[in-house]
Amino acid sequence: MRDFARRYPLFWVYLFFLYFSAVPQLLIHISGMSGTVGLRQAIIMSLLWLVPVLVWPRAVRAYSALLGVVLWAASLVGFSYWLVFGQDFSQSVIFIIFESNAAESLEFVSSYLKPWHVLAVLGFSAVPVWMWRQITVPVLTVRYRSRLAVALVLVVGWPFWGSLLVKQEGLDKSRYHQVIRMEPAAPWNLVFGYMKYQDQLAAMESILDKNRQVPPLEQLTEQQPDAEKTLVLVLGESTNRQRMSLYGYDRETTPLLDAMQDELVVFDDVVTARPYTIEALQQALSFADSNNTQTFFEKPTLINMMKQAGYEVTWITNQQTQTRRNTMLTTLSQMADHQVYLNNNRAQNASQYDEDVLAPFGQALSDEARKKVIIVHLLGTHRKYDYRYPASFRHFSGREGVPNWVDDGNLEEYNQYDDAVRYNDFVVSSLINSLKGTPGQTLLMYFSDHGEEVFDYPEPFCGRNEYDPSPAMYTVPFIAWANSDYAKANDFQGWNKFRHRPYSTADFIYTWADAAQLDFASFEPQRSLISDGFKAMPRLIGDPDNPQTLRDYSAVFPRGDVWSELAQESVGAGREKPGKGG
Ligand SMILES: [Zn+2]
Repeated sequence: MRDFARRYPLFWVYLFFLYFSAVPQLLIHISGMSGTVGLRQAIIMSLLWLVPVLVWPRAVRAYSALLGVVLWAASLVGFSYWLVFGQDFSQSVIFIIFESNAAESLEFVSSYLKPWHVLAVLGFSAVPVWMWRQITVPVLTVRYRSRLAVALVLVVGWPFWGSLLVKQEGLDKSRYHQVIRMEPAAPWNLVFGYMKYQDQLAAMESILDKNRQVPPLEQLTEQQPDAEKTLVLVLGESTNRQRMSLYGYDRETTPLLDAMQDELVVFDDVVTARPYTIEALQQALSFADSNNTQTFFEKPTLINMMKQAGYEVTWITNQQTQTRRNTMLTTLSQMADHQVYLNNNRAQNASQYDEDVLAPFGQALSDEARKKVIIVHLLGTHRKYDYRYPASFRHFSGREGVPNWVDDGNLEEYNQYDDAVRYNDFVVSSLINSLKGTPGQTLLMYFSDHGEEVFDYPEPFCGRNEYDPSPAMYTVPFIAWANSDYAKANDFQGWNKFRHRPYSTADFIYTWADAAQLDFASFEPQRSLISDGFKAMPRLIGDPDNPQTLRDYSAVFPRGDVWSELAQESVGAGREKPGKGG
């Protein structure tokens, strides 16, 4: 080793710098929390530290000692976080740290600390000290050094240069590309983490500020306002109802919900307006729709509405709290009275099981408020599917029930998606079961933000694309469960008459208000799925920023229900991608 260090002094210094970023990333990868992206980025980004060595080789020992201390301190944060919580450190953690009070955080951390953690930290710190002692001055020609330095700057900065000069995406976007690539490397994990935290906090505050100026709903009234009520809204993720046995899928992917079918109202013609989480929920949880997206900022949200009606609102989420994409969701959660953030991973591709919501859900149920709304946001069946469920839920492996066109290369992912749906069945039914015994009127509604195409058609595709839509991306499960107190007060059984109504979750706030027995001046019964005044309306899909792309779902997929019948017969028979007519 010592010989190696002396023979390749420059490479050795590089390994020294790499150590601080690569070890935490490697541990995260080995423990199955995440893929190799973070590790690969750490390998590239650590090259940057060689540039000063190339400029002034003789200062290598002093320079590497100084930088080493900085990198060590920064990486120790990520390392310890992994050690204690088994998760990747990210700006979400910074968010959580600043959001909770110091005493709470300390108590929380100390309850996890174990004596061997101290040994692990010592070991983690001893290795670089030993490495540093082997560092020697690299002897290189000026010409070689200057060329290599320029090459390294180009390689490390490629996300920025490539985006700015080749793809011409502008300064902001280029800078963003660079930042996300550098984030897994120390000390950028802390620096950018903190900067992003600040940015997102500012964006969030400005939306919340606007939201506080929004006038309340006029003439808001509630039937039986003094009754004890618990209303639960479960938001699913990427679950296509056509892959649920509850909706007729051949494979038994929802055995637990199937078993309680008599207690449920299963709405079977509900679609989302957008196949993307934020955009879909922004419409579902506010009065905005694809024709009026700005309404989100101008009128009360579902959370504002429930608080105005005197409900205590708790938001429990297993989705990432702080990413550039999720700012809007976290903002919504901040409108609630209580928040429980369970997922602080930097990558969405990290194992995080939805059963984690059950304990905080139980706690929220035992809260003493008489009128409660609990919103549970699941990770559901989001890609990567095999990260969504524990090994004990591996169920589908062969080709049984799989359409012929799914080739062997895609079979595993097809099966994993069905496994994820089956695990989601366990989580949703567990939430329903834990509601049983809750006093007063109790209602739970569950729908998924959007669907997902997972090799549902002969043309192999996995994912979602608004510009190449398919029913699999839009058809979502939508079910309701109520206890007998609620059922009596609201003619819950009568909702079964409405099961086949064509509906878009863009109008969900009206259904929810109706289910909560609320009325207000701007209430529109024709938009409530459970109202006698309901009227079927065009269900717009498409991109509101490109209004000419907005079209009625039924016109784009005129075969509608006929198609789902076809889907049932299709296993092995060659299911056709439904025609985009009209
Ligand atoms: Zn989603």
